[in-house]
This record gives sequence, structure tokens and C-alpha cells, in this order.
Amino acid sequence: MTRHVPPHDRNCANGWDLHCHTVYSDGTKTPAELITLAHDLGLHGVAITDHDTTAGWADAARQAEAVGLPLLRGTEITAEDGAVSVHMLAYQYDPKNEAITELFRATRLARVERAKRMVARLAEDFPISWESVTAQAKQGKKTTVGRPHMADALVAAGVYATRSDAFAGAISGTSKYYIPTPSPSTHEVVRTVREAGGVSVIAHPGDRARNRVLLSDRQIRDLAAEGLGGLEVWHRGNDEEQRRRLLGLADELGLLVTGGSDWHGAGKPNLLGENLTDDATVAEIVRRGAIPLVG
Ligand code: AMP
Ligand code: FE
Ligand code: FE
Ligand code: ZN
Repeated sequence: MTRHVPPHDRNCANGWDLHCHTVYSDGTKTPAELITLAHDLGLHGVAITDHDTTAGWADAARQAEAVGLPLLRGTEITAEDGAVSVHMLAYQYDPKNEAITELFRATRLARVERAKRMVARLAEDFPISWESVTAQAKQGKKTTVGRPHMADALVAAGVYATRSDAFAGAISGTSKYYIPTPSPSTHEVVRTVREAGGVSVIAHPGDRARNRVLLSDRQIRDLAAEGLGGLEVWHRGNDEEQRRRLLGLADELGLLVTGGSDWHGAGKPNLLGENLTDDATVAEIVRRGAIPLVG
């Protein structure tokens, strides 16, 4: 499904992009390229948020120091809440914390097993293999492997023209080849991020293209009671009605309101800086977090 979205929801230079992927998950650019692009755009700063890993943090920090661009360190964690698949952004936590290290280790192991099973199903009907899929992971075993890499292998094999076409076809969540990613619960993620001294934010909570059933108000209230930090309201997946609902919940529950592009380089149409977070909100995330701001 394609939806018309204005190229920039907010003034491009006036804030932080808190949702960006690199080659350490399913983005196509390196952390250094992310930092350089954000600096050129005049953003106040960015967060690196690869899926289920901190592997890109060091590269991003090095470049952020070099060009003098402030950087938040984060991760987009795959979780589930009942039948709803949920992405949670976690910022400024201690990456050495044992609980969160173990959570990532388990998730990444489960992801690889799931990917292998899904690729085996696809390989029955398409000219791809586990080798051709992992060849798409730009940082080898450090890259969090997922459906985007299967999509890229299908494109490389000439089955589809683009990654998005593959997502509309064989690797969509409704295809017969699809297998869900086994994930920790949202409650486990909120508790673990809090234990590790970080701030958790529900990513694109109103994105109906991702989930036919969204998190209910009740589910969000329960997570807030457990220590959830915020809601990513400014994201192209949340329509106007959802934005209003989420702003209301944030107000009621005292949650932070964040924004981000969900930039994946050439892997998605989302433009760096198309949605932003204001300076005061970022300052509060840094104040609550366990590690210093870089850059
Ligand atoms: P997985 O976690 O392996 O099921 O893969 C889901 C990932 O695929 C998400 O993190 C998205 O970034 C990516 N994705 C989902 N839909 C699309 C799409 N239409 N085009 C490109 N990437 C997508
Ligand atoms: Fe992604
Ligand atoms: Fe996401
Ligand atoms: Zn994302």
C-alpha cells in the first residue's frame, strides 16, 4: 500500500530525528553516512536505532564526535503484546547491562532460527538460499537479519524489482511463507530498558499498515504504569486520527512525545528528518538516561 505523505511533516532543521537504521540492521547506509547526512541537513542531532542491536553505536559515536553532531544511542526492539507485534525504541541505556544484553542475545538467536525456516519455505518456490540471503547482510553476522534481507535476495534473483515489491508479495506478513519473529513481551522490554537505565518509547503505535490490530488505550496505560517513557507520535505510519489519540494518551499519562523518520537509506522511501523530536524532549531523555550524549 502506498500513501501520500508530505516530504517533510515539520521544519527539517528544527529538531532531532530519533529513528534511524543503518547497515547494522536493515538500512543501506553506514552509521558514519547517517551522521554526515544529518549534519548536512542541519538537524540538531539524531539517534541510531538499529533493530535488536547496539552494534552500530561505536561507528556512529566516532563520526558524531568528528563532525560535532549530537547523537543519542538507541535500539528498536521487536516485542509482542498479546496478539500485537510491537516495536519499542530504547534510548540511552547502559549497553553492558546484563539483562538487556541477554534479551538481545535471545532475540537475535530466535531471529536467525526464524529467518532460516522462512528462507527454507521461500526456497521451495524461488531461486534463493540461506547463503544468498545472508550475502545481503552488509555487516555479516553483526547485522540483525530479517525479512528485508530476504526481500533483497529476491530482488537480486530477479523475482521482484524492489524491496517494497517483495514486501507486497512473498514476504508480506500475510503470505504463506511468513513466520512471525519470536519476541519478548512489551512489559519485559519496558522493565529491562528501565533496569538498564534507559528510556523506552513505543515506535509507530498507530501504524495500521503494520498491524491490523493496534495496541489499545488499555495496553498503553498498562505499559505506562510499568515505566514506559514515551510514544512516537510523529511518524509517517500514524494518521491524523491516531496522532490525536496518541497525543491525548501522552497528555493523560505524562508520556514523552517523540518523532522520527524511520530512515532506512535506500531501503524505504522515508526521508531523513521528515519527522522530528524537539530539543526539550531530547534533553529529558538524556537527563533520565544512563549514558552521556555524544558529540
Ligand atoms: P522482520 O522483523 O524480519 O519481520 O522484518 C520487518 C522489517 O521489515 C521492519 O523492521 C521494516 O523496517 C521492514 N519493512 C517492513 N515493511 C517494509 C516495506 N514495505 N518496505 C521495506 N521494508 C519494510
Ligand atoms: Fe526496519
Ligand atoms: Fe519499526
Ligand atoms: Zn524502524
